[in-house]
Order: sequence, then structure tokens, then C-alpha cells
Amino acid sequence: MREHDGSLKNKYVREALLYDRLTQNRIRCNLCAHHCVIPDGKLGVCRVRKNTDGILYTLVYGNTISQNVDPVEKKPLYHFYPGSLAYSVATPGCNFRCQWCQNWQISQMPREQNLITGQEASPEQIVADALETGSRSIAYTYTEPTIFFEYAYDTARLAHQAGLANIFVTNGYMSQQMLEMFHPYLDAANVDLKAFREKTYHRYVGAGLQPILDNMKFMKQRGIWLEVTTLVIPGINDDPAELRDAAQFVAQELGPETPWHISRFFPAYKMANIAPTPLVTLQQAQKIGREEGLHYVYVGNIPVEGNDTFCPSCGRALIRRHSFGVIFNRLEKDSCPACGEPIAGIGMRST
Ligand code: SF4
Repeated sequence: MREHDGSLKNKYVREALLYDRLTQNRIRCNLCAHHCVIPDGKLGVCRVRKNTDGILYTLVYGNTISQNVDPVEKKPLYHFYPGSLAYSVATPGCNFRCQWCQNWQISQMPREQNLITGQEASPEQIVADALETGSRSIAYTYTEPTIFFEYAYDTARLAHQAGLANIFVTNGYMSQQMLEMFHPYLDAANVDLKAFREKTYHRYVGAGLQPILDNMKFMKQRGIWLEVTTLVIPGINDDPAELRDAAQFVAQELGPETPWHISRFFPAYKMANIAPTPLVTLQQAQKIGREEGLHYVYVGNIPVEGNDTFCPSCGRALIRRHSFGVIFNRLEKDSCPACGEPIAGIGMRST
């Protein structure tokens, strides 16, 4: 376990990528859509990138706050090597301040505690651990992977050399420069579409919506397998008109084969007083998604059905899931065995 307060003594602290020097001591970070202008001695919004004497440093390289072997369904990715394992890593920090964050203890640690703590793990170690645990992929997850870009980038390149896939579970607020650099190594992403109103993003998250929509389209155009998740929160983003707008965007701009995960909210962080999402709201959102033409709409975080994959052509149950496990997978050659309809995804029958 190690801790540091932003000083540059730690052996893993290193110069960041993707920044411009504006004046001798002022820099602009180009890693995410905040494009923070950072004076000397200060940190960016994410609190893990620091300007020291006109050089931008990342403070979280090689510093994991969490390492776990998860089912890929937990990301959630339902159409990417179903039933496989994803070696999952995170560092502290986030470029968002979502008031409902379920992982706020680690995502907001640098902001709330002025602290970066964790375990040392080099990219080589991460890849070796992923291979040893039989993982099919490495997932950069739990906090926002954009803010540990340099670490993820080095790990992802090694992962590809070792035959592992790379997954981002992300808020989608990276810069296009970052995506241009990372996309050759990024195989799949789950993007959290937290709302479909700019004002909600500005008020509760501290960011904007449009860059996320643009980045999802970019990912799709570059052939990155994409799934979208919306945590439906009572009174925040559960208006049926807003959910319909989100579903329309996914269906029309990303394609009807893009899975949409509707997830149940539970009280957390600064929204501890809001009740969990009623099941009827989630079912209504699922209905809206299907009405807008989406082929795969899943409901997560609930104890009842809503996670199976059905053939969009003949309606046959093809993949049955329980919790994060796959009970059966009836696909043959990535298609429905009954009617031959291709089922979108990657490695749908590879495990
Ligand atoms: S990653 Fe984003 S939030 Fe962090 S310093 Fe760079 S632009 Fe700012």
C-alpha cells in the first residue's frame, strides 16, 4: 500500500501525454473534454494530473485502487465474449462528480480526501495476472479510465501482444485526441449515458452531454464494440420523454443492434435520500427502448428477469443469464439456431 499527496517523489509518477504548454507555467490538458487550463502547482478537475514547473504529470500511473476478476457481464457487456472473465483494474480519481456515484469512495478520493492511495502494479504485472486468472480481457473500470490513460495505454498495448482484449467502462468524456490514440487497442466499451439533458449533466455531474454523444459515434465508426448503460434515477432522468430521446439516439445514431442497459438506482453518496428506482419505471424504460427499435434492451440491478438475449427476428431465448452468470448460450456461429438471424456482438460463441 502506498499513499501520496501529489508530490512528485513516487517512482511511478511520470510526465503525462496529451497536453499543451500555453505560457511558461500554464498548461492545457487535452486528455478529456474538460480541457483544463492548469496554472503551475495546481491540479486539474480530476485531481490526478498536476502542473509542476510547466510539465503535466499523472499521479496515478501504476497505482491500482482495485484489482478483481469479474464476469464480463458485470461491466456490463452482454455481447462481448459472453461468459468470459475480465481482469478489472482502477486507479483513484474521476473527471466527474456524479452525486449518485456508487464508487465514490475511490472515484472521489483525490477530491474528498486529497489522497491517492493503492497498490503498485506495473502494466506487465496486470497483464501477467490477467493471463494467470484465465481472463479473456482487461477492463479499465470502477473509476473513470480516461484519467489513468497513460497507465491503461501501456497496459492495453501489452495486453494485445498477449492476446487479451481491452475494455473501457467509461463516462465517455474523453477527448477525441485520446480516442484517436487509444482506439487501435480498445476492443469494447460500455459508456454510461447518465441522462439525455445537458442541464442534468451540468447540475449533477459537472460536465456536458454533447462530447459523450460524439465519442459514442466515434467509437462505433472505429469498430469498437459498444454497449450503453443508463442508471435510471427517480426525479433526475426518469421522465419518459427523456428516456425516449436517449433510446432514439442509441437506435438511430449508434444502431439498433447496440445493447442498452437500463440499470436500477440505489441510494448512494450525496443521493442517499432518494428511493431505489421502482420496477415499473425500469419496465417502462425497457418498453420505450423496444418501441424505438432497439434489439437488445436489458434491465440490470433487479431480482427479476430482464437480462436474457432474445433473437430479434423470431424471439427465441438465446442467452439466459442469472445474476452475472450465463446459464445457457444457444447461439450457433454467432446466429440464432432457429432462424439463422445473426446476433450482434464479438465472440458470442467463443467460450
Ligand atoms: S484529464 Fe480532464 S479533468 Fe483531468 S486534468 Fe485533464 S482535462 Fe482536466
